[in-house]
Amino acid sequence: MTATRVPPVTGTFPVVDPATGEPFADAPDAGLAELDAAVVAADAAFAAWSRDDDARREALRGAGAALMAAAADLAPTLSREQGNPLHEAALEMQTGGYWLMYFADLDDPVEVVADDDYSRIEVVRRPLGPVAAITPWNFPITLALWKIAPALRAGNPVIVKPSPYTPLSTLAVVDLLAPHFPAGVLQAITGVDPLGARLVEHPLIRKVSFTGSTATGKRVAASAATDLKRVTLELGGNDAAIVLPDAPIAKTAPLVFHSAMANNGQICMAVKRAYVPESMYDDFVDAVAATAAAVVLGPGDRPGVTHGPINNRMQFERVGGLVDDAIARGARVVTGGRRHGDHGYFYEPTVLAGLSDGVRVVDEEQFGPVLPIIAYRDVDDAIARANASHYGLGSSLWTEDVDAARTLAPRLDAGTTWINTHLLVTPAQPFGGAKSSGIGVEGGHWGLHSFSEPHTIHTAK
Ligand code: NAD
Repeated sequence: MTATRVPPVTGTFPVVDPATGEPFADAPDAGLAELDAAVVAADAAFAAWSRDDDARREALRGAGAALMAAAADLAPTLSREQGNPLHEAALEMQTGGYWLMYFADLDDPVEVVADDDYSRIEVVRRPLGPVAAITPWNFPITLALWKIAPALRAGNPVIVKPSPYTPLSTLAVVDLLAPHFPAGVLQAITGVDPLGARLVEHPLIRKVSFTGSTATGKRVAASAATDLKRVTLELGGNDAAIVLPDAPIAKTAPLVFHSAMANNGQICMAVKRAYVPESMYDDFVDAVAATAAAVVLGPGDRPGVTHGPINNRMQFERVGGLVDDAIARGARVVTGGRRHGDHGYFYEPTVLAGLSDGVRVVDEEQFGPVLPIIAYRDVDDAIARANASHYGLGSSLWTEDVDAARTLAPRLDAGTTWINTHLLVTPAQPFGGAKSSGIGVEGGHWGLHSFSEPHTIHTAK
């Protein structure tokens, strides 16, 4: 159902607390009538919203400040349905507010491409119309704001459709933000699938900004193509971290571990596999395992907890299955490798050694708290193996020779290559995937321009 200024809903669906595995609340289950009402309202709001850039900046600033101020109040809803610790949920809200502020202040001047004796050619940007922002269950607020902020700033109304696993936090955020905008400019709609597919199909939607799995992204692209809706697709990843031979183990191992285990590895650009030189393999594995000992698993609202449960049963079972498969193929469990407790979807942070490419947990996007560590011969070997994936979201190089790493970085087939870090994204940089990790980018003026098109004004003199 839409969060604001909308007709009543037709039903509800249960939302599960991943720390218990039990439903704890109901969310509105929108039907086709509510979906249509939301899109019609967005379309009606488009013309006026697209015209006044100053008003848009002002509204985005007000909304950003409101989200930052409400971060602590909204965090429990996010933590409960997503599973992340409260302090991380609050940070996610804060960051969402910051994204609104950033896009409010981002200048997008008219480009003059020629101004001579014969003609003046200017390029202005034209917004697209109602945007469908479809988001997954990991980082539902961050990923919604990555779309909402630039789409609104560019002059489009937005309808956010969160994952059925995490609908409540998006509804709460949109309830808070929507009053900062004219009616119909920002709405949220929740429900079980095929609601997402129906939203993509709606003829008044002009752009689909989708974050989710590669399989669903392909369906979105095919559906959008029927009437040439614009699409941005942020899809799956299988990021490799390549530890170079000069990297200091004591410093690097904990950073690689945390880059794999943040949010239980449920991050599209989490490190999913680490390539480590044969010469330092055993020492590196031991150092990573020592870091794992500091993890405190538990419900997100318990003080001192560093990692919550996996978000949902399907993902929990998939992760366990991939680890069991790796063990059956000879992988050594250095730490973890089993569920934690007997209820909820807790899984111990797991480090696997003695395995190589060709095992599913290495080759597929496992999206869980699992770090396979793989030995490599030389740097060419490591780069070739990092690139041998149909994904190409992120990658990282770990070394004290930053200049050498900057020379190597362009050889990695990825949207982003980090050096001595991973996961860090600011609103100023383009973020997106190569190969099957997506089409288009979010962030900076690249992301802003993905919500508008160039309009050339060519004046003869
Ligand atoms: P998913 O593809 O199952 O679902 C994503 C969203 O799409 C949900 O809101 C879902 O309800 C909706 N949906 C399902 N079928 C649809 C259809 N046919 N048309 C339109 N919408 C539809 O993904 P998930 O399991 O929620 O999320 C995990 C995936 O998201 C992982 O693969 C992860 O790598 C990816 N992800 C990518 C990024 C990125 O920026 N590249 C960021 C976070 C997550």
